[in-house]
Amino acid sequence: MNVEYEKESLKLPTRINRLFELANNLWWSWHEEGRQVFRSLDYPLWRTSGHNPVKELRTISQEKLEVAARDPAFLELYDSVMQKFDDEMTKSHEWCGQTNPDKPSGQIAYFSAEYAIHHSLPIYAGGLGVLAGDICKECSDRGLPLVAVGFMYPQGYFRQRISAEGEQQEDYQQLDFNDAPITPCAWPFGCGPLIPIELGDRLLYVRVWQVHVGRVNLYLLDTNVEENHPSDRALSARLYTADQEERLRQLIVLGVGGARTLRELHIEPIVWHANEDHTAFMMLERLRLERLKGSSMETAIENVRQCTVFTTHTPVPAGHHVFHLQLLDRYARNLWEPLGISREEFVKLGQFPGLEPDRFNLTAFAFRLSSHSNAVSKLHGEVTKRMWHVLWSSKNPQEIPILSITNGVHLPSWQAPEIRELCEKYISPELLQKQDNAEYWSCMDAIPNEALWLTRKKLKERLMMTIQDRAQRRWTQGTVATQQLTAMGTLLDPYALTIGYARRFTEYKRPYLLLTDIERLKRIITDQERPIQIIFAGKSHPADYQSKQLLKRVYQTALDRGFQGRIAFIEDYDLNLARDLVRGVDVWLNTPKRLQEASGTSGMKASMNGVINLSVLDGWWAEGFNGKNGWAIGDFQVSREEEDRTDAESLYSLLEKQIAPLYYKRDRIGVPHEWIKIVKEAIKTITPAFSACMMMKEYTQQMYLPAAKQQPNNQNGGK
Ligand SMILES: *Cc1c(COP(=O)(O)O)cnc(C)c1O
Repeated sequence: MNVEYEKESLKLPTRINRLFELANNLWWSWHEEGRQVFRSLDYPLWRTSGHNPVKELRTISQEKLEVAARDPAFLELYDSVMQKFDDEMTKSHEWCGQTNPDKPSGQIAYFSAEYAIHHSLPIYAGGLGVLAGDICKECSDRGLPLVAVGFMYPQGYFRQRISAEGEQQEDYQQLDFNDAPITPCAWPFGCGPLIPIELGDRLLYVRVWQVHVGRVNLYLLDTNVEENHPSDRALSARLYTADQEERLRQLIVLGVGGARTLRELHIEPIVWHANEDHTAFMMLERLRLERLKGSSMETAIENVRQCTVFTTHTPVPAGHHVFHLQLLDRYARNLWEPLGISREEFVKLGQFPGLEPDRFNLTAFAFRLSSHSNAVSKLHGEVTKRMWHVLWSSKNPQEIPILSITNGVHLPSWQAPEIRELCEKYISPELLQKQDNAEYWSCMDAIPNEALWLTRKKLKERLMMTIQDRAQRRWTQGTVATQQLTAMGTLLDPYALTIGYARRFTEYKRPYLLLTDIERLKRIITDQERPIQIIFAGKSHPADYQSKQLLKRVYQTALDRGFQGRIAFIEDYDLNLARDLVRGVDVWLNTPKRLQEASGTSGMKASMNGVINLSVLDGWWAEGFNGKNGWAIGDFQVSREEEDRTDAESLYSLLEKQIAPLYYKRDRIGVPHEWIKIVKEAIKTITPAFSACMMMKEYTQQMYLPAAKQQPNNQNGGK
């Protein structure tokens, strides 16, 4: 092993010797009691470790541990959490068994290039990873037998800093594996620890790490082993390299290596789920095995197809992987030679008719090798069918077999415990069991407006504290200019109407829309009676110059004294900051160009916390908005040329005429009842419909079960 890995040497007092196990199962992160254990163990250390129990346990003093092991209050908490942990890890009467008599009889293999589960495991860039992470957590909660495969990126995605001029600086930090919630993969007896993969002219080895996400095992592939060529060792270093060849190599390793890893673990999935085209090469490896068994190419394709499901996320052509054939030639030995087919036959599998004959389109390949495919919202489904119609040229658009399963978010991870407590108190304690039940949420009116408002205020104050905290830490490091403190949000007012805009910085999401008319915006923001403030956050892709210019423009606006410190840009948007933002602001803003947002999920997170959406009717909001649970920007019928202008006008006018007046219309003790009415409507309608619970039921019923039924050797599944 190259990486020093010494977690096991920890000396825990016998009475609390399962703390290590708990810390290394991210189950704790979505259970408030679990967090409580590590918070109360050593509060200062919990904070300085960045809420990372693995790190906390590695640095805690022996004395503190001994004290905890004798503290009755701590022991009571510890015992009850371990009891709950054991119950949840083994319970057999979960949803899957109840409502699906034919629960999947074997495992579902889920492949994704990124996973956002906890910020201590920085192997994600954004929404795609958040979805994959939420799926793992939900499957654990539901008892859906999922096994997940991904990549271990020791440098992950970058940490973002902004200079006084508004330039994004990217900092790639090497993750200390000892501080991460990963353990070396536990292989069944007799298997070697390294997985060989032929890559071009060389053999490359993959080491596998294991992450426990409740009941779900996530296996992460790592190429940084001594046996590898230096350039191969660096292959898994970073997420989303801009270099095409490096990307291709990563994708081959992820797909082929992932499938081989499962085989070495003696896992024989009954369904294989590819999340986005990044993971499509797992289909290639399975084709190879089918051919090895003696199947004809046709039969091999059919056998792989039957049990493969594919989710596409990207409504813009640039988002799909398209490789030059010249590049593929270098990897011929990995790609078509093992299948015993010609280059031409292989290329046909990834061809997109009418476009680029010398290219291999990975999404086209994935569609061809999957029996069930889906887009991630209703609207995205329509766009996707139009985009890929040529693959089914004999069919009418309505007949194209691409389903729409709208994304959802993992409720226990995203809904603030304070909101949950209110519902449990005033509606009924069965919130988790009934989270996708519209009837449960229809009782929101049982919660007194005053109580809900008090909670909303508390969540906002917490956000302001987080922002102050971050600014203070950066200030103390001595690397920020004084005027930057304003942009960091130090002048924000916890009582002003606060709008959040946090997402990847990119042209189509139009972070500039709000800045269209600076003077008008100034009047809106600095209104004496009804001040508004705006909190921005988000990263630009390191190679995207245009997006960095957008970010700079926003940052410089935040520095403008004319806005009185009411615009902030918070650096380094990640899971941790996202959690505080989607709970703490009043309004969640989204301004994509129409038909370019596949789904989006942050607005769902906001809604279930009573944060009201103000968004263009695109992605999920086109089906989530009901006229009473938020606001829609602009008109769906607008032309591309007019889009920016009319949307900006609509946005300003909503802020001036509806949103600000409603927010500041208070009763004698300061409660905005009409505002709360919308808050309740948002929680009521959006929580059940856009929960990961609902989403996984749809995946199971519409994709997994049908794909599992088709499987030729299904009888081996063993019920
Ligand atoms: C939820 C989330 C996203 C995805 O949200 P969008 O609505 O697609 O922008 C991205 N990044 C983080 C950190 C998130 O928590």
